[in-house]
Amino acid sequence: MSENPGFTRQTLVAQALGHVDPINGALVPPIHLATTYIRDPDNQYRSGFIYGRPDNATVREAEAIIAMLEGAAGAMVLGSGMSAALAVFMALRPGDHAIIPTVMYWGLRNWLINDAVEWGLKIELVDTTDLAALQAAIRPGETKLIWLETPSNPMWTVSDIAAIAVIAHAAGARLAVDSTCATPLLTQPLALGADIVMHSATKYLNGHSDVIAGALATARLDDFWGRIERVRRNFGQILGPLEAYLLIRGMRTLPLRVAAACAGAMELALRFSNHAAVAEVLYPGLESHPEHAIAKRQMQGGFGGMLSIRLRGGEAAAIKAAAEVKLWKRATSLGGVESLIEHRASIEGAGSPCPPDLLRLSVGSETVDDLYGDLDHAMR
Ligand code: PLP
Repeated sequence: MSENPGFTRQTLVAQALGHVDPINGALVPPIHLATTYIRDPDNQYRSGFIYGRPDNATVREAEAIIAMLEGAAGAMVLGSGMSAALAVFMALRPGDHAIIPTVMYWGLRNWLINDAVEWGLKIELVDTTDLAALQAAIRPGETKLIWLETPSNPMWTVSDIAAIAVIAHAAGARLAVDSTCATPLLTQPLALGADIVMHSATKYLNGHSDVIAGALATARLDDFWGRIERVRRNFGQILGPLEAYLLIRGMRTLPLRVAAACAGAMELALRFSNHAAVAEVLYPGLESHPEHAIAKRQMQGGFGGMLSIRLRGGEAAAIKAAAEVKLWKRATSLGGVESLIEHRASIEGAGSPCPPDLLRLSVGSETVDDLYGDLDHAMR
């Protein structure tokens, strides 16, 4: 980015940071498949590459784009969002106390509650929208990480990153933010004081529902980042070069896709707020949302493409509506160009804060009238 200080992130990402192949002038980054690299006659590796498990040139291109998007000192791509998140927790030490939100991606919450204890971590769930509760949960000298997800799955609560960064740092802890649903365009956690940002790159960054990938970005290339790098290298969690290439291709249209998703989600949130079958719409862009003021301050350019609706007819009505849609795709995941609908309680199971009458909507790039008409018809 330093070579192009005046250009916007939209411009830089559209051109994959202006990649031009030094050998043939190609405007598209190549896919480097080699797993091993030639050693110089004097035993050095001046190319900077040794072996494919720690490093790969296509992966580095994807990482440079993500670092630019997040204003980060460095970025890392891994085999999935889960492997990215777990790499952060595995970089902690046995006995460390970590605070996680009560509302968050259920797969990670389950691992943290059920399995992280095996690694010696002390995990505590806190409502991270409640700063007093968060402050009270801090264990001086023991709390080493606060993990946030904002907006958070599937209730779309918003946590105040800047305020929580102050609390974390005063306690000597790091702040990591799962910013998957905010995308690097709508929220910049590092600029707000976070130390690490995580993305399920499977979602908006790639955007086409054809790559499983994860990303981390860091404010500083410090010891903790080095520990995370060692977790990725030694557990063999680097993203494959084919996936890294697809991720680069997907990221080039990120601003266009995110703008369409935000506009569609806002419009649908407003329309469903007046729908007879809908009891409540959960979307940070609505003035009725409890953390709308924080979202307005923390998010720029939109409130994201994710919303949930709660149906007056309860669980049965929610499951029936999801069964009746023709255009929305009944599937898990989010952040693709095709809109998805999901009865989350069915997938999250026991212990989930998700109410049974809730349908989670991931808004893609289709026409809002088509999406509204399809779900309106299904709910009638
Ligand atoms: N974080 C969030 C917010 C998610 O929605 C997901 C997946 O749904 C993940 C993390 C895990 O990502 P992945 O499925 O790429 O491992």
